[in-house]
Amino acid sequence: MYDYDLLVVGSANADLVIGVERRPGAGETVLGSDLALHPGGKGANQTVAAARLGARTALLARVGDDAHGRLLLDSQRAAGVDTTGVLSGGAPTGVAVITVDPSGDNSIVVSPGANARLSPADVAAAADRIRAARVVSVQLEIPLETVAEVVRTLAPGTRLVLNPSPPVELPAEILAACDPLILNEHEVRVVLGRTAEAPGAREDDGPEEWARALLALGPRSVVITLGERGALVADAGATELVESVRVRAVDTTGAGDAFTAALAWRLSAGEAPADAARYAARVGAAAVTKEGAQASFPTAAEVAALTG
Ligand code: ATP
Repeated sequence: MYDYDLLVVGSANADLVIGVERRPGAGETVLGSDLALHPGGKGANQTVAAARLGARTALLARVGDDAHGRLLLDSQRAAGVDTTGVLSGGAPTGVAVITVDPSGDNSIVVSPGANARLSPADVAAAADRIRAARVVSVQLEIPLETVAEVVRTLAPGTRLVLNPSPPVELPAEILAACDPLILNEHEVRVVLGRTAEAPGAREDDGPEEWARALLALGPRSVVITLGERGALVADAGATELVESVRVRAVDTTGAGDAFTAALAWRLSAGEAPADAARYAARVGAAAVTKEGAQASFPTAAEVAALTG
């Protein structure tokens, strides 16, 4: 039988990165650096982050029957992730084509590929795995109807962690299952999807107002990540701002995925949400001290060694 701390249902992408002096405009061709190829996608990032910390982690995803798919499977296995739930075929592996200029600004085109073919039927076929996990983590780089099927499949004791990225307004059925809904400032604005004058969306509103407005949409709890300021943890009873550690930030790519994975893992161990978020903030901080996404995710020993 399956025995996971954390099951991630989500995307797996190959990130194709080219450095350029200037990002091309319409109709323009520019020459760039050698191609760098990295495993990525929010689902695949989260499993690697959790496994590196020591969590027993499994991925439910879909990749193509191609070289990028094999790269993703290899990187998952190297991190110790159970990949027996990764499906193959139906479309090419998802790719993100990324151009980065010297100031660090980027332009990204995503081809969801196989991620868009992870279907409700795939979820139904993996119901035993989903029901066996203590915590299931989902993002929105797979179809929303697939996410809804995950919600319907959860066992009564299984906790759902949802990061609505890329953000959309969420149906009530999905919102009601989130414990927590975990999102950054940009995602808050889209999920609230309100007029400028509505509670939580006014110009001078801050994280506490956002959290109250989000809780009114139905999730059991909310975590808002605030970059170097840490994170706000809120449920109907309490709100707590959890500080992050002061670090020299080199590259913030993947910080949100590292934070979410760490939070989900600590929650699966039965930790209180604010304590889990305090640990996750340290993991996010460690991740910004190194280049890249998966390459920047820390081990538990590296998190413990982080001063501050
Ligand atoms: P990204 O999209 O870059 O992956 P995000 O916007 O989803 O990230 P952030 O709020 O930037 O998420 O980061 C997640 C967590 O990582 C924060 O809550 C914080 O704990 C930690 N973190 C991020 N940036 C920093 C930083 N510069 N210094 C310290 N901690 C940080």
